[in-house]
Amino acid sequence: MSAEQTTAIVLRTIEFSETSLVVTLLTRDLGRVSALAKGARRPKGPFEGALDLLAVCRVVVLRKSTDTLDLLTEAKLHRRFRGGERSLQRLYGGYYIAEMLRLLTDDHDPHPDVYDLTIHTLEQIDGSGEVAPSLLWFDAQLLKRLGHAPGTDRCTDCGNSIPPARRIAFSLTAGGVVCDKCRAKQRQIISVRTTVIDEIKRLQSGDTRLPTQVTQDLYGEVRAVLNRYIQTVVGRVPRMQAFLPETSS
Ligand SMILES: [Zn+2]
Repeated sequence: MSAEQTTAIVLRTIEFSETSLVVTLLTRDLGRVSALAKGARRPKGPFEGALDLLAVCRVVVLRKSTDTLDLLTEAKLHRRFRGGERSLQRLYGGYYIAEMLRLLTDDHDPHPDVYDLTIHTLEQIDGSGEVAPSLLWFDAQLLKRLGHAPGTDRCTDCGNSIPPARRIAFSLTAGGVVCDKCRAKQRQIISVRTTVIDEIKRLQSGDTRLPTQVTQDLYGEVRAVLNRYIQTVVGRVPRMQAFLPETSS
């Protein structure tokens, strides 16, 4: 067993016993961690409210070598997520981020860039940033950093360049745009405006930072393509997708 110190974002807490919680954390240095927090449900317990959903805290984790849960021995609150006190949209936006991280990251597989991306997005959701474009940017950047970026340049199947057209075929199974020749082989195809693909490309580029805007004309279609693509990647419909903003502002 070794004690490791890192910063963490609380992704979920589950009651484990009368006094304890099992917490899922996204840590900066250890990746996603599930740990037992003994005494966390006691009124004056050792964690003093540091384990609320989306709270950012400094933690000490005792790593277990076997398959059993790690042990959380310390959590010192840095920042609480308060967006939910101001609007339902900010609250649901926060829940959505937590769900995406639970679904897409793996235990003990550190991605400090994903941790930093999440902190940056939460600052917008918790502050005065627009929720809808912030979440689109978060999804595009998260998928890219975890190696799931949808293909937006060449045909995802044969690799050939795709001649310019107003609409383009997007294959959910191939994970990106496909040319006319490969289109027939695909099972799950959606026809998308080329401007929508260009917008996804912009959102996943390293040059785009928050705050960013997405026009109302593109928002619904970009959101729909990413939603269906994410469903294919994770193998189910994320629960919070139904609560995502319907308009871009
Ligand atoms: Zn092709």
